[in-house]
Amino acid sequence: MQDTVIVIGSNGQIGTELVNELRNIYGDGQVIACDIRRPDYDIKNAGPFEFVNVLEKDILKNIFQKYKPTQVYLLAALLSATGEQNPQLAWDLNMNGLLNVLELARGFKTPKVYWPSSIAVFGPNSPKDHTPQACVMDPNTVYGISKLAGERWCEYYVQKYGLDVRSIRYPGLISWKAAPGGGTTDYAIHIFHDALKKGSYQSFLSGDTELPMMYMDDAIRGTIELMDAPSEKITIRSSYNLTGMSFTPETLAEEIRRHIPDFKLGYTDYDQRQAIASSWPRSIDDGNARMDWAWKPEFDIAKMTVDMINNLKR
Ligand code: NAD
Repeated sequence: MQDTVIVIGSNGQIGTELVNELRNIYGDGQVIACDIRRPDYDIKNAGPFEFVNVLEKDILKNIFQKYKPTQVYLLAALLSATGEQNPQLAWDLNMNGLLNVLELARGFKTPKVYWPSSIAVFGPNSPKDHTPQACVMDPNTVYGISKLAGERWCEYYVQKYGLDVRSIRYPGLISWKAAPGGGTTDYAIHIFHDALKKGSYQSFLSGDTELPMMYMDDAIRGTIELMDAPSEKITIRSSYNLTGMSFTPETLAEEIRRHIPDFKLGYTDYDQRQAIASSWPRSIDDGNARMDWAWKPEFDIAKMTVDMINNLKR
């Protein structure tokens, strides 16, 4: 059977790149990009696009009816920093968007569903270094609370209804194609743009704030590898820990100076994103993903920095 794939939230930082890669695999016409916003990239020209608000269940149902997807990727969400500015909307979108998709996937017997969680599920009392798959989880942002609840719902649908839902707890994702969507790790993208444009950057996180990160190429490859893995290999049905690297703004600035020797890093006044970052892990143990479906990142900080600078220069 030919796969038909729906990506909801297709125009964001991840969707822009995921849609392209899925279209390379399944064919342009087989991957339906869906978003509440008009696509401003080449998504629309390459294949089908539908305006969809994931909170409007009837419209979403029509999309399931029309395309009968074999895979659904749900990426629409409010991210950590934006979520704190509008907690009610973040809860509504992140929770009810997921429940709408899970219910429709159950009703339409969709073979596979993908939904991303985040390292934001961890909190101040989670271990900070090599944070394990299972440990104390006490997120203190609405984003983290919604992701932790979402993970429980995903596992519930797997166990109660046999729906094949798969998930990854992404760390901060670094990419050059589309702008980041309002997360706490966005500094690690802005820093490259400003380094090339101005030769300096004002970080909203302190120089020693270490966070887990991943280059987008690894994130897209990991997502597709997880979705392709045989079902019996998937032992984690909440969401897999996954990481590529960990660094601080200072370490990243050092790496950038290898290419732009005069680059200067400064700091803004205290920003609420510092409190969010301080509640998150410094590094992640992704042993389960390595064991279950042979996860292995390809980009470290040096390789990522070269790729970011080369692409942004172009
Ligand atoms: P983004 O903000 O860049 O993109 C989200 C997209 O969803 C946008 O194009 C937006 O227009 C769309 N959207 C918003 N409300 C919608 C609605 N009601 N109906 C349909 N579409 C709607 O986000 P992203 O960075 O691409 O993240 C995608 C997913 O990955 C999210 O679940 C996010 O929590 C998760 N994640 C991202 C990162 C990261 O670093 N980017 C890290 C961890 C987890």
